[in-house]
Amino acid sequence: MPSRKPKRGRLFVVSAPSGAGKSTLCAMMLKKYPELRYSVSYTTRAPRGTEKDGADYFFVSEDKFLDMAGKNEFLEWAEVHGNYYGTSAKVIEEMLSAGTDVFLDIDPKGAMQLKKKAENGVFIFISTPSFDILRERLIKRGTDKHDSIERRLLNAREEIKYFADYDYLIINDESDEAFHDMEAIYRAEKLKTAHITEISDFMSI
Ligand code: 5GP
Repeated sequence: MPSRKPKRGRLFVVSAPSGAGKSTLCAMMLKKYPELRYSVSYTTRAPRGTEKDGADYFFVSEDKFLDMAGKNEFLEWAEVHGNYYGTSAKVIEEMLSAGTDVFLDIDPKGAMQLKKKAENGVFIFISTPSFDILRERLIKRGTDKHDSIERRLLNAREEIKYFADYDYLIINDESDEAFHDMEAIYRAEKLKTAHITEISDFMSI
């Protein structure tokens, strides 16, 4: 079957309150669509549980992070839950210019910076069905201390206000539906003619 040649890779920018299941959904997408890449962010927060440097995040000191920010090495960056998080501009540009689609898991402040910059971005917000369900999930996850959970919940109330600035809203009730919704968005966006230069093995005849 002829393939559609994309002009450039696309940025899929995913935000959600902490605990809404964003990482799980992104991991499921990467498994099913191996051509997709996940952007590994830089952060000043300490690794949690089994997290690995270079895979989950690049864990750096505050000095190093601020030095990189000062040199404009981040496509976007923000302070979230008292730590800094940022996306490498160089890595993203390399992937997009190679035609690779990239999933970014970033907070709404960072996403809004990208919305102004990324002509090609697709913005997806994920929420739990209710605030109480979010609280339950954070407690059940067991990776955060009590004060960190409270901070994440407070933040969630602010983050949810941004949902209408995104292109899509997925409500994650932990059924298969949320994954199907995410797949549907990805697949539909890939079919948009605006992002396709040619149909290989057809236009060259
Ligand atoms: P966590 O500490 O739970 O891994 O992430 C906390 C928050 O930081 C999440 O909302 C996550 O989306 C966000 N985050 C992770 N990487 C980045 C990044 O590179 N930039 C921004 N702006 N937020 C990020």
